[in-house]
Amino acid sequence: MRRKAIHWCNARELEKPKEEGGFGFKNFHLFNLVLIGKQVWRLFDNPDALWTKLLKGLYFPNYELFSATKGRKSSWVWNGLCEAKEHMKSGLLRGIMSGEDSWFHCDPWLPSIPCYNLSHLGLEPSKVSDWIDRDSRSWKMDAIQNLVPDEIAQAIARVPIGPCTAKDSWIWRLTKSGGYSVKSAYRMFRENRDSNPVIDLSASSRPNRDDWKWLWDLKLPPKLHFFIWTCSTNAIATRVRLFDRKCAPNPLCPLCEDQVETIMHCFFRCSKALETWYRLGLLNVLPVADSCFVDWFFGLKDRVSVGQITKIVCSLWNIWIARNGWVFEVREFSPPSVAILAERDVMNVQEARIGSSAQSSSSPAGLPSQLGSSRSSTLSPPGPFSKVVHCDGSFVSDAQMATYGIAIANSHGQVIDGKAERFFCSSPLQGEAFAILNAVIWARPRILSQRVSVLIVRD
Ligand SMILES: [Zn+2]
Repeated sequence: MRRKAIHWCNARELEKPKEEGGFGFKNFHLFNLVLIGKQVWRLFDNPDALWTKLLKGLYFPNYELFSATKGRKSSWVWNGLCEAKEHMKSGLLRGIMSGEDSWFHCDPWLPSIPCYNLSHLGLEPSKVSDWIDRDSRSWKMDAIQNLVPDEIAQAIARVPIGPCTAKDSWIWRLTKSGGYSVKSAYRMFRENRDSNPVIDLSASSRPNRDDWKWLWDLKLPPKLHFFIWTCSTNAIATRVRLFDRKCAPNPLCPLCEDQVETIMHCFFRCSKALETWYRLGLLNVLPVADSCFVDWFFGLKDRVSVGQITKIVCSLWNIWIARNGWVFEVREFSPPSVAILAERDVMNVQEARIGSSAQSSSSPAGLPSQLGSSRSSTLSPPGPFSKVVHCDGSFVSDAQMATYGIAIANSHGQVIDGKAERFFCSSPLQGEAFAILNAVIWARPRILSQRVSVLIVRD
């Protein structure tokens, strides 16, 4: 590992789920606490179990588990349980049944107020049951209204009261069942930790959940996903960012040395980049003067097709690669070459997309079925000829890709040779024409070597 690597992004940002702009990395410390929390939940859920009584006798004989503390000579096991319990507190709620096991003034039993308990009011200690009318099983609202502010009295009135014979119990308020779950606890622990987020001045605009989902759902190679993510979070090493971090002598663009190299200059304003977009025929999708990268890129989802998004992402990527080629290897930034490389990348991405869809479907997309099982299949009899070349092409308009297949059949119509290929083209007609041309070129030496003077191509 390089010691002096630059940290472009806060680790906490990476721990956010993908739909919130992170990568969903787990924080080991938090996750460990969540797992310990399962044991703490068992203590809460089984107050009469032997090991709960054992721990109570050792560490909190005079307290409830909820308010128990580490103490001075506690074991590392108890320390771990206490740490997890502190994190769990905002997810715990008392379910009121008889009310005799819950403290009115300090237990978290009020789901509709922000801190769930009344400890901020400094009330005298009392049990919840003291405020319940035993006969009618309803709240003593007159007394409560004299004790607490109106909005809290209303919140109390909304709390359902269980049967007087049942014991109060703990509820994990983040699940429908009321039981503890690792997933809900991890999310809560992480959100609580991030409730005072590090202010990221570098990102003026942040994508929302829908934006991130759209990005991750795009069928792109991981490196392009990651590249767009770095651009969207401003975690990309433009000169202005390097200058901010005192890693560059000036913030000027290394290509034109005329303007500050912001992310927008690098990709859209610099003359070399602009010429690349021109050669790709994409000038119409470029951002307007004062927009930022995030607003522009995620605004594209309602404006352009998936095919065009692929082309735009590949173009951005190749502009960045060419810019780095100039910076690190003094390799000329040639807009025509960059445009060709971007087009090639678009083809590769679309080819991979077709390949994956063909793998998932039962019959390969665009491949003639005769080629798929050449040993057993037969084609139509060749008539008066000893061998006939069959060819066909198919076209996928979304991906702008065509596939052609060529098969040579013998006098019995059995396939004796064949090939299939995918290629990039713009129309079905072009695909068909290309298929026939290739059939002639490929089959001619194979047929003519066997003294056949006529080559008939059947489509
Ligand atoms: Zn420039």
